[in-house]
Amino acid sequence: MAILLSAQNLEKSFGSQTLFRSLSFGVETGDRIGLIGPNGAGKSTLLKIIAGLTDYDSGEIARSRGLRVGYLAQSPEFTPGVNVFDALSEGIEDPEKFANVHEWLARLTLDGEARVDDLSGGWKKRVALARELVREPDLFLLDEPTNHLDLESILWLEDFLQTAPFATLTITHDRMFLQRIANRIFDLDKRNPDGLLVVKGSYADFLEAKENLMHQQARREMVLQNTLGRETEWLRRGAKARTTKQT
Ligand code: ADP
Ligand code: MG
Repeated sequence: MAILLSAQNLEKSFGSQTLFRSLSFGVETGDRIGLIGPNGAGKSTLLKIIAGLTDYDSGEIARSRGLRVGYLAQSPEFTPGVNVFDALSEGIEDPEKFANVHEWLARLTLDGEARVDDLSGGWKKRVALARELVREPDLFLLDEPTNHLDLESILWLEDFLQTAPFATLTITHDRMFLQRIANRIFDLDKRNPDGLLVVKGSYADFLEAKENLMHQQARREMVLQNTLGRETEWLRRGAKARTTKQT
C-alpha cells in the first residue's frame, strides 16, 4: 500500500454555508472508497476539490508525485459538436495512450463516429468514462456513476471497479452498487466527529460500525441523563432537608 493522496484539516464554505471545517483523510493504492452522506453534505464539492477543480478555504492536500486523477462528473460535459473518437483523444499526444482510445472504444462498444451531442445520457456517461480510462488514472473519482446508466452498464461497471488496477473514490446513493464496489466507507455528515466517519470494510461493515457508535453515544447520553437526574434529586432533597432544618 502506498499513499496516493492525503488531506489535512480541509475547510470549505460557500458564503455563510460551511460544508466542512476540518476534514482529514488519506487515500492509498488498493482503496475502493464509497463516499456517502446526506444530500447537500458536500460530497460532490469534496470530489471536485480532490480533482483540483474547486478551491478550498484552508487545510492542505498532498498528492504523490505524478499522480493522475481521473474525474467522472455527475453530468459530464463535452466540447460541442465533437464525435466520440475526438472526445476520447482530445489533447492526447502519447502514442501509447492513443492506442488506449481504440481499446476503450471497443471495450465499451462505442461508435467513434457518433456525435456526442446526439447520444442519450447513459451513452454520454459511457463516453465520459472511456475518456478518463484512456488516460490511465491512478485515482479515479466518480460522482453518482450509475445515474442514467442501464442495468447492463451498471453490472459492467461493478465488475470493472471490483478489479480495477487503480484506486477509486465513488459517490453513490445506490446501496447495492456501493456494497459491491467499496472496501472502505467515508461518511460525510456534520453529525460525525470532525464531520467524517471512516470505516474499513464494506457498506455492511460500515452500517454495523455506525450502529455500534450510535449505541455507545446513546448509552453515554443515558448515563449522563441518569447522573443529572440523581443530581437534581439530591439538590431537591437537600433543599427540603435545609428548609426542614431551618423551620
Ligand atoms: P452533495 O453532493 O453532498 O449533495 P454538494 O457538494 O453538491 O453536496 O453541495 C453542498 C452544498 O453546497 C449545497 O447546499 C449546494 O447548494 C452548495 N453548493 C455547491 N456548489 C456550490 C457553488 N458553486 N456555489 C454555491 N453553493 C454551492
Ligand atoms: Mg452530489
